[in-house]
Amino acid sequence: MANKPFYRRVDELAVTSFPIAWLGYLAAHTWTLTEPIAASFGAVLGWACADLVSGFIHWLGDHILPADAPLVGKWLVQSFAEHHDRPQSICEHGQAERNGGPCVGGLIVLAGGAVGLKWFGTPGGVSSFLYGWLAALSVGAAATNQFHHYAHLPSKLVPHPVLTLQRLGLIVSPRIHGKHHSGPHADSFCITTGWCNRLLDGILKMTWSRLRGESQYATKSIRPIDRLAL
Ligand SMILES: [Zn+2]
Ligand SMILES: [Zn+2]
Repeated sequence: MANKPFYRRVDELAVTSFPIAWLGYLAAHTWTLTEPIAASFGAVLGWACADLVSGFIHWLGDHILPADAPLVGKWLVQSFAEHHDRPQSICEHGQAERNGGPCVGGLIVLAGGAVGLKWFGTPGGVSSFLYGWLAALSVGAAATNQFHHYAHLPSKLVPHPVLTLQRLGLIVSPRIHGKHHSGPHADSFCITTGWCNRLLDGILKMTWSRLRGESQYATKSIRPIDRLAL
């Protein structure tokens, strides 16, 4: 316990504090919720945005950031490298290790959202939309690796409500996520719902080919990692 690394303590704190902060956000901003339909549209867009962001960060970790990058090296890059090497390893991680980083992201979204809602402080369609967008975006961001975990867990161990969400396409399914692990980990990066895989794959490939003149962006070799360092 005494040797627990700093980033692991941050993980534990984030996993504990995110649900409290999220409920606090909902309670503190109900005054903005005057148009539920606008809030519902915001929530759907927020859920999609969480997926897109999950895919972009996953791509950065897989193919751009070095494994020894400050802060995110162990937290993100080595974690994804280990996951590619042994996909089922995600099923062995505890709550804090699995969800700590995403919960930090969710907390940052909530903090930014609270400031944003102050700017759009007049109750109405815009603030209702933002309320729903931020509520869904923050939960989608915080829970993304939990959904990713469920996509790797044997189906008999996945709770029935979660299986239903997977079948409805509301969270990423084993079939959708399996595409990422079926090749050189060069596409299908989105791990919240998988809705944005095609969009992100297209954007990344087009941008990469324009910048580098290469059609394939999976150029960073994923180095074996020192698991003892994790
Ligand atoms: Zn995976
Ligand atoms: Zn990956």
